[in-house]
Amino acid sequence: MTTALHGFEMNIVEQTSTPFYYYNMDILHDTLREIDRHISGHPFVVHYAVKANGNPHILKEISQHGLGADLVSGHEVEAALAAGFQAEKMTFSGVGKTDWEIKLGIQHGIGCFNVESVPELEVINQLAGEMDKTANIALRVNPDIDAHTHKYITTGTADNKFGIGIEVLEQTVKQALSLPNIHLRGLHFHIGSQITSMTPFAMLCDTINDLLDHYEGQGIHFEMINVGGGLGIDYSEPDKHPLPDFESYFGTFKANLKIRDNQQIHFELGRSIVASCGSLISRVVFVKESRNKKFLILDAGMTDLIRPALYQAHHEIQNLTAAGNGIDKQVEQYDVVGPVCESSDVFAHSRKLPISRRGDLIAIRSAGAYGESMSSRYNMRALPASVFAYKK
Ligand SMILES: *Cc1c(COP(=O)(O)O)cnc(C)c1O
Repeated sequence: MTTALHGFEMNIVEQTSTPFYYYNMDILHDTLREIDRHISGHPFVVHYAVKANGNPHILKEISQHGLGADLVSGHEVEAALAAGFQAEKMTFSGVGKTDWEIKLGIQHGIGCFNVESVPELEVINQLAGEMDKTANIALRVNPDIDAHTHKYITTGTADNKFGIGIEVLEQTVKQALSLPNIHLRGLHFHIGSQITSMTPFAMLCDTINDLLDHYEGQGIHFEMINVGGGLGIDYSEPDKHPLPDFESYFGTFKANLKIRDNQQIHFELGRSIVASCGSLISRVVFVKESRNKKFLILDAGMTDLIRPALYQAHHEIQNLTAAGNGIDKQVEQYDVVGPVCESSDVFAHSRKLPISRRGDLIAIRSAGAYGESMSSRYNMRALPASVFAYKK
Protein backbone atom coordinates (compact mmCIF):
# COMPACT_ATOMS: atom_id res chain seq x y z
CA MET A 1 0.00 0.00 0.00
CA THR A 2 1.34 3.44 -0.87
CA THR A 3 1.01 6.25 1.63
CA ALA A 4 0.91 10.01 1.92
CA LEU A 5 4.70 9.91 2.03
CA HIS A 6 5.99 9.56 -1.52
CA GLY A 7 7.49 6.14 -2.19
CA PHE A 8 6.93 4.89 1.36
CA GLU A 9 5.33 1.44 1.48
CA MET A 10 3.68 0.33 4.70
CA ASN A 11 5.41 -3.06 4.51
CA ILE A 12 8.69 -1.29 5.35
CA VAL A 13 7.50 -1.00 8.95
CA GLU A 14 6.84 -4.73 9.17
CA GLN A 15 10.55 -5.27 8.57
CA THR A 16 12.12 -2.46 10.57
CA SER A 17 11.16 -1.31 14.03
CA THR A 18 10.65 2.37 14.70
CA PRO A 19 12.22 4.85 14.94
CA PHE A 20 14.19 4.70 11.69
CA TYR A 21 15.30 6.94 8.88
CA TYR A 22 13.61 6.40 5.55
CA TYR A 23 15.55 7.66 2.53
CA ASN A 24 13.90 8.12 -0.85
CA MET A 25 16.87 7.62 -3.14
CA ASP A 26 14.96 8.91 -6.17
CA ILE A 27 14.81 12.35 -4.57
CA LEU A 28 18.56 12.17 -3.93
CA HIS A 29 19.10 11.21 -7.59
CA ASP A 30 16.88 14.00 -8.84
CA THR A 31 18.75 16.48 -6.63
CA LEU A 32 22.14 15.37 -7.96
CA ARG A 33 20.92 15.56 -11.56
CA GLU A 34 19.54 19.04 -10.93
CA ILE A 35 22.98 20.12 -9.69
CA ASP A 36 24.59 18.72 -12.87
CA ARG A 37 22.13 20.66 -14.98
CA HIS A 38 23.10 23.96 -13.36
CA ILE A 39 26.87 23.54 -13.24
CA SER A 40 27.50 22.06 -16.67
CA GLY A 41 29.40 24.42 -18.94
CA HIS A 42 30.76 26.39 -15.97
CA PRO A 43 34.10 25.98 -14.16
CA PHE A 44 32.20 24.75 -11.09
CA VAL A 45 33.14 21.82 -8.85
CA VAL A 46 30.68 20.58 -6.23
CA HIS A 47 31.73 18.79 -3.05
CA TYR A 48 29.28 17.07 -0.73
CA ALA A 49 29.64 18.13 2.93
CA VAL A 50 29.71 14.70 4.55
CA LYS A 51 28.80 15.94 8.02
CA ALA A 52 25.22 16.50 6.79
CA ASN A 53 24.78 12.74 6.43
CA GLY A 54 27.59 10.19 6.54
CA ASN A 55 25.47 7.09 6.03
CA PRO A 56 27.58 4.75 3.83
CA HIS A 57 24.73 4.16 1.32
CA ILE A 58 24.21 7.90 0.89
CA LEU A 59 27.97 8.47 0.55
CA LYS A 60 28.28 5.75 -2.09
CA GLU A 61 25.40 7.15 -4.12
CA ILE A 62 26.92 10.63 -4.09
CA SER A 63 30.50 9.49 -4.81
CA GLN A 64 29.26 7.41 -7.75
CA HIS A 65 27.64 10.53 -9.08
CA GLY A 66 31.10 12.09 -9.25
CA LEU A 67 30.94 14.77 -6.58
CA GLY A 68 33.87 15.60 -4.34
CA ALA A 69 33.68 15.46 -0.54
CA ASP A 70 34.06 18.16 2.10
CA LEU A 71 35.24 16.67 5.39
CA VAL A 72 35.61 17.95 8.93
CA SER A 73 37.35 15.06 10.74
CA GLY A 74 39.79 12.24 10.11
CA HIS A 75 37.02 9.68 10.46
CA GLU A 76 35.04 11.49 7.79
CA VAL A 77 38.13 11.31 5.54
CA GLU A 78 38.25 7.55 6.14
CA ALA A 79 34.51 7.14 5.47
CA ALA A 80 34.77 9.16 2.26
CA LEU A 81 37.72 7.06 1.04
CA ALA A 82 35.78 3.87 1.85
CA ALA A 83 32.78 5.19 -0.10
CA GLY A 84 34.94 5.74 -3.18
CA PHE A 85 35.45 9.51 -3.18
CA GLN A 86 38.71 10.46 -4.88
CA ALA A 87 41.30 11.99 -2.56
CA GLU A 88 42.10 14.79 -4.99
CA LYS A 89 38.43 15.79 -4.84
CA MET A 90 38.44 16.09 -1.05
CA THR A 91 38.51 19.27 0.98
CA PHE A 92 39.20 19.16 4.71
CA SER A 93 37.73 21.96 6.83
CA GLY A 94 37.58 22.59 10.58
CA VAL A 95 39.24 24.83 13.15
CA GLY A 96 40.82 22.05 15.22
CA LYS A 97 42.43 19.48 12.94
CA THR A 98 44.72 17.27 15.04
CA ASP A 99 48.08 15.91 13.89
CA TRP A 100 46.82 12.43 12.95
CA GLU A 101 44.01 13.99 10.90
CA ILE A 102 46.40 16.30 9.07
CA LYS A 103 48.85 13.45 8.40
CA LEU A 104 46.01 11.27 7.08
CA GLY A 105 45.03 13.99 4.61
CA ILE A 106 48.63 14.57 3.50
CA GLN A 107 49.29 10.85 3.16
CA HIS A 108 46.31 10.44 0.82
CA GLY A 109 47.13 13.62 -1.10
CA ILE A 110 43.76 15.28 -0.55
CA GLY A 111 42.80 18.14 -2.85
CA CYS A 112 42.73 20.86 -0.25
CA PHE A 113 43.02 21.62 3.44
CA ASN A 114 40.82 24.60 4.22
CA VAL A 115 43.16 26.25 6.71
CA GLU A 116 41.48 28.27 9.44
CA SER A 117 44.42 29.86 11.30
CA VAL A 118 48.13 30.72 11.16
CA PRO A 119 49.11 28.04 13.73
CA GLU A 120 47.30 25.43 11.60
CA LEU A 121 49.15 26.63 8.50
CA GLU A 122 52.49 26.26 10.26
CA VAL A 123 51.68 22.79 11.61
CA ILE A 124 50.54 21.54 8.19
CA ASN A 125 53.78 22.84 6.67
CA GLN A 126 55.84 21.15 9.35
CA LEU A 127 54.04 17.78 9.14
CA ALA A 128 54.16 17.83 5.32
CA GLY A 129 57.90 18.54 5.57
CA GLU A 130 58.44 15.59 7.90
CA MET A 131 56.57 13.38 5.39
CA ASP A 132 58.53 14.87 2.47
CA LYS A 133 55.31 16.01 0.81
CA THR A 134 53.57 19.20 -0.21
CA ALA A 135 50.10 19.90 1.18
CA ASN A 136 47.46 21.60 -0.97
CA ILE A 137 45.68 24.30 0.97
CA ALA A 138 43.19 27.14 0.73
CA LEU A 139 42.98 29.84 3.37
CA ARG A 140 39.56 30.08 4.93
CA VAL A 141 38.62 33.72 5.05
CA ASN A 142 36.13 35.09 7.55
CA PRO A 143 34.35 37.62 5.30
CA ASP A 144 32.31 39.15 8.16
CA ILE A 145 29.00 38.62 6.36
CA ASP A 146 25.89 37.97 8.43
CA ALA A 147 23.79 35.33 6.70
CA HIS A 148 20.87 36.15 9.04
CA THR A 149 20.27 32.56 9.90
CA HIS A 150 20.10 31.00 13.39
CA LYS A 151 23.05 32.15 15.52
CA TYR A 152 24.29 28.58 15.97
CA ILE A 153 24.59 28.10 12.19
CA THR A 154 26.07 31.49 11.28
CA THR A 155 29.76 31.05 10.60
CA GLY A 156 30.94 34.04 8.60
CA THR A 157 30.83 36.93 11.08
CA ALA A 158 33.90 38.41 12.75
CA ASP A 159 32.98 37.24 16.26
CA ASN A 160 32.81 33.52 15.60
CA LYS A 161 35.64 31.01 15.63
CA PHE A 162 35.86 30.23 11.91
CA GLY A 163 38.43 31.45 9.40
CA ILE A 164 41.11 34.10 9.09
CA GLY A 165 40.10 37.77 9.45
CA ILE A 166 40.37 39.91 6.31
CA GLU A 167 42.67 42.33 8.16
CA VAL A 168 45.39 39.66 8.51
CA LEU A 169 44.70 37.83 5.27
CA GLU A 170 47.38 39.46 3.16
CA GLN A 171 50.22 38.64 5.52
CA THR A 172 48.89 35.08 5.82
CA VAL A 173 48.70 34.68 2.02
CA LYS A 174 52.32 35.83 1.77
CA GLN A 175 53.37 33.50 4.56
CA ALA A 176 51.59 30.56 2.85
CA LEU A 177 53.32 31.37 -0.45
CA SER A 178 56.70 31.35 1.29
CA LEU A 179 56.33 28.02 3.12
CA PRO A 180 58.23 25.19 1.37
CA ASN A 181 55.76 22.34 1.95
CA ILE A 182 52.57 24.29 1.26
CA HIS A 183 50.89 24.72 -2.11
CA LEU A 184 48.41 27.61 -1.79
CA ARG A 185 45.56 26.86 -4.21
CA GLY A 186 43.14 29.57 -3.27
CA LEU A 187 40.72 31.08 -0.80
CA HIS A 188 37.82 29.44 1.00
CA PHE A 189 34.64 30.92 2.44
CA HIS A 190 31.62 29.47 4.23
CA ILE A 191 29.13 31.93 5.67
CA GLY A 192 26.49 29.74 7.31
CA SER A 193 23.73 27.26 6.74
CA GLN A 194 20.03 27.11 5.80
CA ILE A 195 20.39 30.37 3.85
CA THR A 196 17.35 30.94 1.63
CA SER A 197 17.90 34.57 0.65
CA MET A 198 20.41 35.02 -2.15
CA THR A 199 21.55 38.41 -0.77
CA PRO A 200 24.30 37.03 1.52
CA PHE A 201 25.68 34.95 -1.38
CA ALA A 202 25.68 38.03 -3.65
CA MET A 203 27.50 39.96 -0.88
CA LEU A 204 30.02 37.14 -0.68
CA CYS A 205 30.61 37.46 -4.45
CA ASP A 206 31.30 41.20 -4.03
CA THR A 207 33.80 40.51 -1.25
CA ILE A 208 35.54 37.87 -3.37
CA ASN A 209 35.68 40.16 -6.43
CA ASP A 210 37.33 42.90 -4.36
CA LEU A 211 39.85 40.47 -2.87
CA LEU A 212 40.72 39.01 -6.28
CA ASP A 213 41.19 42.50 -7.78
CA HIS A 214 43.52 43.32 -4.91
CA TYR A 215 45.61 40.16 -5.22
CA GLU A 216 45.70 40.36 -9.00
CA GLY A 217 47.26 43.82 -8.57
CA GLN A 218 49.99 42.12 -6.56
CA GLY A 219 50.54 39.44 -9.20
CA ILE A 220 48.93 36.70 -7.10
CA HIS A 221 46.59 34.31 -8.93
CA PHE A 222 44.37 31.78 -7.19
CA GLU A 223 43.58 28.60 -9.12
CA MET A 224 40.45 28.00 -7.05
CA ILE A 225 37.93 29.88 -5.00
CA ASN A 226 35.80 27.83 -2.66
CA VAL A 227 32.53 29.54 -1.74
CA GLY A 228 31.46 26.88 0.80
CA GLY A 229 27.91 25.70 1.24
CA GLY A 230 24.86 26.90 3.10
CA LEU A 231 22.02 26.81 0.59
CA GLY A 232 18.77 26.24 2.48
CA ILE A 233 15.73 24.13 1.68
CA ASP A 234 11.99 24.62 2.14
CA TYR A 235 11.21 22.87 5.42
CA SER A 236 7.59 24.12 5.39
CA GLU A 237 6.46 22.65 2.07
CA PRO A 238 8.59 19.59 1.35
CA ASP A 239 6.21 18.15 -1.26
CA LYS A 240 5.81 21.42 -3.14
CA HIS A 241 9.56 22.09 -3.21
CA PRO A 242 11.36 18.74 -3.01
CA LEU A 243 14.40 20.24 -4.76
CA PRO A 244 16.33 23.26 -3.48
CA ASP A 245 16.44 26.43 -5.58
CA PHE A 246 19.71 25.58 -7.33
CA GLU A 247 18.73 27.84 -10.21
CA SER A 248 18.87 31.00 -8.06
CA TYR A 249 21.83 29.73 -6.06
CA PHE A 250 24.20 28.88 -8.90
CA GLY A 251 22.69 31.79 -10.87
CA THR A 252 23.81 34.21 -8.15
CA PHE A 253 27.42 33.09 -8.55
CA LYS A 254 27.18 33.07 -12.36
CA ALA A 255 25.81 36.61 -12.35
CA ASN A 256 27.95 38.18 -9.62
CA LEU A 257 31.31 36.46 -9.44
CA LYS A 258 34.03 37.74 -11.76
CA ILE A 259 35.70 34.40 -12.42
CA ARG A 260 39.29 34.79 -13.63
CA ASP A 261 40.99 32.75 -16.34
CA ASN A 262 42.22 29.36 -15.16
CA GLN A 263 40.14 29.52 -12.03
CA GLN A 264 37.71 26.96 -10.65
CA ILE A 265 34.84 27.77 -8.32
CA HIS A 266 34.25 25.12 -5.68
CA PHE A 267 31.05 24.59 -3.70
CA GLU A 268 30.53 22.53 -0.56
CA LEU A 269 26.85 21.68 -0.25
CA GLY A 270 25.50 19.50 2.52
CA ARG A 271 21.93 20.19 3.57
CA SER A 272 20.64 21.08 0.12
CA ILE A 273 21.79 17.71 -1.27
CA VAL A 274 20.39 15.34 1.36
CA ALA A 275 17.75 17.09 3.52
CA SER A 276 14.72 16.39 1.33
CA CYS A 277 15.32 12.71 0.72
CA GLY A 278 15.09 11.69 4.39
CA SER A 279 12.22 11.30 6.84
CA LEU A 280 12.33 10.09 10.41
CA ILE A 281 9.63 7.45 10.86
CA SER A 282 8.31 6.82 14.35
CA ARG A 283 5.22 5.64 16.23
CA VAL A 284 2.99 7.30 18.77
CA VAL A 285 3.70 5.62 22.09
CA PHE A 286 1.07 7.52 24.09
CA VAL A 287 -1.41 10.33 23.61
CA LYS A 288 -1.31 12.21 26.88
CA GLU A 289 -3.68 14.96 27.95
CA SER A 290 -2.80 17.55 30.53
CA ARG A 291 -5.08 20.34 31.76
CA ASN A 292 -4.59 22.55 28.71
CA LYS A 293 -2.57 20.46 26.24
CA LYS A 294 -2.44 17.27 24.31
CA PHE A 295 0.91 15.59 23.87
CA LEU A 296 1.84 13.10 21.20
CA ILE A 297 4.66 11.13 22.74
CA LEU A 298 6.74 9.44 20.04
CA ASP A 299 9.26 6.63 20.17
CA ALA A 300 11.68 8.99 18.33
CA GLY A 301 13.37 11.73 20.29
CA MET A 302 16.08 14.35 20.22
CA THR A 303 18.67 11.57 20.16
CA ASP A 304 17.41 10.65 16.67
CA LEU A 305 16.81 14.20 15.39
CA ILE A 306 18.19 17.04 17.47
CA ARG A 307 17.53 19.96 15.11
CA PRO A 308 14.28 21.14 16.76
CA ALA A 309 15.87 21.03 20.24
CA LEU A 310 19.18 22.58 19.16
CA TYR A 311 18.13 25.21 16.61
CA GLN A 312 14.36 25.55 17.17
CA ALA A 313 14.12 24.10 13.65
CA HIS A 314 10.78 23.43 11.97
CA HIS A 315 10.01 20.06 10.39
CA GLU A 316 6.72 19.10 8.81
CA ILE A 317 5.04 16.20 10.60
CA GLN A 318 2.59 13.75 9.01
CA ASN A 319 0.41 11.06 10.52
CA LEU A 320 0.79 8.31 7.92
CA THR A 321 -1.71 5.98 9.56
CA ALA A 322 -4.52 8.54 9.68
CA ALA A 323 -3.83 9.58 6.09
CA GLY A 324 -3.84 5.92 4.98
CA ASN A 325 -7.20 5.31 6.69
CA GLY A 326 -8.71 8.44 5.16
CA ILE A 327 -9.43 9.80 8.67
CA ASP A 328 -7.12 12.78 8.37
CA LYS A 329 -9.85 15.43 8.13
CA GLN A 330 -10.52 16.01 11.83
CA VAL A 331 -7.61 17.84 13.35
CA GLU A 332 -6.32 18.46 16.82
CA GLN A 333 -3.43 20.49 18.25
CA TYR A 334 -0.58 18.56 19.76
CA ASP A 335 2.80 19.15 21.29
CA VAL A 336 4.80 16.45 19.54
CA VAL A 337 7.52 15.23 21.91
CA GLY A 338 10.08 12.48 22.35
CA PRO A 339 10.72 10.17 25.30
CA VAL A 340 14.11 11.59 26.32
CA CYS A 341 14.46 13.07 29.81
CA GLU A 342 14.96 16.68 28.68
CA SER A 343 12.37 19.44 28.42
CA SER A 344 13.87 20.43 25.07
CA ASP A 345 12.98 17.03 23.59
CA VAL A 346 10.14 18.55 21.55
CA PHE A 347 9.63 18.22 17.79
CA ALA A 348 6.80 20.75 17.55
CA HIS A 349 4.59 22.91 19.76
CA SER A 350 0.82 23.25 19.12
CA ARG A 351 1.01 21.44 15.80
CA LYS A 352 -2.28 20.72 13.99
CA LEU A 353 -2.44 17.04 13.05
CA PRO A 354 -5.20 14.56 12.31
CA ILE A 355 -6.62 13.06 15.50
CA SER A 356 -3.87 10.62 16.43
CA ARG A 357 -3.82 7.41 18.38
CA ARG A 358 -1.35 5.14 20.12
CA GLY A 359 0.51 3.10 17.48
CA ASP A 360 0.01 5.56 14.62
CA LEU A 361 2.97 5.98 12.28
CA ILE A 362 4.41 9.48 12.16
CA ALA A 363 6.78 10.89 9.53
CA ILE A 364 9.01 13.84 10.41
CA ARG A 365 9.95 15.27 7.04
CA SER A 366 13.08 16.84 5.53
CA ALA A 367 15.28 15.06 8.05
CA GLY A 368 17.98 13.79 5.67
CA ALA A 369 20.52 16.44 6.69
CA TYR A 370 21.89 16.84 10.22
CA GLY A 371 19.49 14.14 11.39
CA GLU A 372 21.05 10.70 11.46
CA SER A 373 24.53 12.26 11.48
CA MET A 374 23.78 14.08 14.75
CA SER A 375 22.11 11.15 16.46
CA SER A 376 23.42 10.09 19.84
CA ARG A 377 23.05 7.35 22.42
CA TYR A 378 21.99 9.66 25.26
CA ASN A 379 19.71 7.83 27.71
CA MET A 380 21.41 4.68 26.28
CA ARG A 381 18.94 4.74 23.44
CA ALA A 382 19.72 2.74 20.31
CA LEU A 383 20.88 4.63 17.24
CA PRO A 384 18.13 4.87 14.61
CA ALA A 385 18.18 2.34 11.77
CA SER A 386 17.99 3.37 8.12
CA VAL A 387 15.97 2.10 5.15
CA PHE A 388 16.51 3.01 1.49
CA ALA A 389 13.84 3.03 -1.21
CA TYR A 390 14.78 2.94 -4.89
CA LYS A 391 11.89 3.14 -7.32
CA LYS A 392 13.21 4.31 -10.67
C1 LIG B 1 28.93 22.40 7.24
C2 LIG B 1 29.78 22.94 6.18
C3 LIG B 1 29.34 22.96 4.86
C4 LIG B 1 27.96 22.50 4.46
O1 LIG B 1 26.96 23.38 4.89
P1 LIG B 1 25.45 23.18 4.41
O2 LIG B 1 24.73 24.30 5.06
O3 LIG B 1 25.01 21.86 4.90
O4 LIG B 1 25.44 23.28 2.92
C5 LIG B 1 30.20 23.42 3.90
N1 LIG B 1 31.44 23.86 4.20
C6 LIG B 1 31.90 23.87 5.46
C7 LIG B 1 33.26 24.35 5.75
C8 LIG B 1 31.09 23.41 6.50
O5 LIG B 1 31.54 23.43 7.75
